[in-house]
Amino acid sequence: MKEQIAFDRAHVWHPYTSMTDPLAAFAVESASGVRIRLRDGRELIDGMASWWCAIHGYNHPQLNRAVETQLADMAHVMFGGLTHEPAVRLAKMLIDMTPASLQHVFFADSGSVAVEVAIKMAMQFHAARAKGKKTAADRLMTIRGGYHGDTFGAMAVCDPVNGMHEKFAHLLPAHFFLDRPVARFGERLEGREIETAEKLMIRHRDRIAAFILEPIVQGAGGMWLYSADYLREIAALCARYDILLIADEIATGFGRTGRMFACEHAGVVPDILCLGKALTGGYLSLAATLTTGRVARGVSADGGVLAHGPTFMANPLAAAVAAESIRLLQAGPWQQRVAAIERQLVDELGRYADHPGVADVRVLGAIGVVECTETVDVERVQRRFVDAGVWLRPFGKLIYMMPPFVIDEQDLRRVTGVVGLGL
Ligand code: PMP
Repeated sequence: MKEQIAFDRAHVWHPYTSMTDPLAAFAVESASGVRIRLRDGRELIDGMASWWCAIHGYNHPQLNRAVETQLADMAHVMFGGLTHEPAVRLAKMLIDMTPASLQHVFFADSGSVAVEVAIKMAMQFHAARAKGKKTAADRLMTIRGGYHGDTFGAMAVCDPVNGMHEKFAHLLPAHFFLDRPVARFGERLEGREIETAEKLMIRHRDRIAAFILEPIVQGAGGMWLYSADYLREIAALCARYDILLIADEIATGFGRTGRMFACEHAGVVPDILCLGKALTGGYLSLAATLTTGRVARGVSADGGVLAHGPTFMANPLAAAVAAESIRLLQAGPWQQRVAAIERQLVDELGRYADHPGVADVRVLGAIGVVECTETVDVERVQRRFVDAGVWLRPFGKLIYMMPPFVIDEQDLRRVTGVVGLGL
């Protein structure tokens, strides 16, 4: 095992990590339910759901069976010129569970790619409409503090400071950024945020193809939970100024915020919706970009084709496990579970609010965030958490958690209980 860890350290890149001076990586033997078992025999209670994905926990018998059953038929076939039951079944489920106007699905292989596809849909929609005119709308509008993925198109709408702009600024298109909304979730909108947004839209309306945002929860850009009023007002402005609204629900989708989709908190229906992460219950990489008949017809006008087609598009194994994950979610008491997690997080994380090392505590659904006053020393703090039998992965000033929905009260208490070790 030591040899393997040494090889990993010397040769294998981990997320956002140096190759020559990497952070420690713990070797995992297996995972089951809400437990991650390390190769050294230790067991960790999972507070991360593997970055929002594993909502039903690991090694779930029904999800395993869905993969095994599909495997007996085929693991993969190309999607160009072929189709299959798992893809069609999943597309139907997604169309049924999202707002009625979203009728068309593009399956991609990761969240970042789903965002690239959404951007292309918006750009191609406007380009088709602008035929004969000199310029088409080719810019996006977004909010600071956002995160939409690591590919170039997605990166260009990530937060310009927190994101990776500084390394690639000269290569990224210049989009229009609004300040992060000040009003928190549950608060009314005050101030001039919407006025500023409207002014910018009026000034640049001919150039802005779409507004892209993470509804209600800005995730990897800082775990900020903002007012539903803000989302509602932005959606109304987009409709007024003929700007498409792209909702990136890759992190928030499938119940995480207490609603099936976070847009529901504001009663907003986007023109384009990106889904990923929990789509497959954390089993395989799959994402989906849904859109309306209007956008699909626009893109397809005069023989237009959507310029995307990944090799593993609509992978049957991933589609089959996604369909089963959604079935499991819909058949179970997820609302009660998420509500119970929320109550417990409010109670138990709330106790850290007065700690001198804590700047803020915020909770929504099965998401709990403790913002520290100083940057967390990830390696040191993580080792303490692991020694205490809990898996959490802080970043920046944030110690945050989004456990599998199936976590019980006792296990969640252990997860919230270790936060103090990081302060
Ligand atoms: N959008 C959001 C809101 C995300 O949280 C993420 C992943 N952290 C992505 C897009 C990118 O997804 P992926 O990592 O699957 O490319």
